[in-house]
Amino acid sequence: MGGACFPEYINLSDSEVEQRVRKDLAAIMGITEAPSFVRIFRHHQAIPQYTVGHGKRLAALAEKGQAHPGIFLTGNSYRGIGLNDCVAAAIRTSDEVIVHLQKH
Ligand SMILES: Cc1cc2nc3c(=O)[nH]c(=O)nc-3n(C[C@H](O)[C@H](O)[C@H](O)COP(=O)(O)OP(=O)(O)OC[C@H]3O[C@@H](n4cnc5c(N)ncnc54)[C@H](O)[C@@H]3O)c2cc1C
Repeated sequence: MGGACFPEYINLSDSEVEQRVRKDLAAIMGITEAPSFVRIFRHHQAIPQYTVGHGKRLAALAEKGQAHPGIFLTGNSYRGIGLNDCVAAAIRTSDEVIVHLQKH
């Protein structure tokens, strides 16, 4: 819960978080039983936000990167946040690393 759309949620108390989650579970899935245990983790600014201009920033990074062969960037800050995007990006990047190492 929370995220970039509801940043204030991170400041809710544990009991308020639990209450809201249980309310959602009841409404969405019909689950009304009390949980056996509850763990709450707060991740501040957990997920990069691709704001307007992200494409241009990526292009600028790629251009500047040409002056620094051997440095490779990958991860959720660039071309996709989901795990599947990150895995695909990591595979592409590791292929680029292999090509670089074979050349040098
Ligand atoms: C709460 C939450 C829920 C999510 N839910 C989903 C979901 O349901 N489905 C989905 O597809 N995606 C989800 N995501 C998004 C996805 O999990 C992330 O975008 C993705 O895991 C990021 O992968 P990454 O490799 O870029 O970064 P990470 O997985 O964060 O990997 C970065 C690694 O670098 C290490 N590291 C950091 N600094 C250093 C350093 N100085 N030296 C050495 N190592 C360092 C860290 O320890 C970490 O292991 C979620 C993300 C969050 C935060």
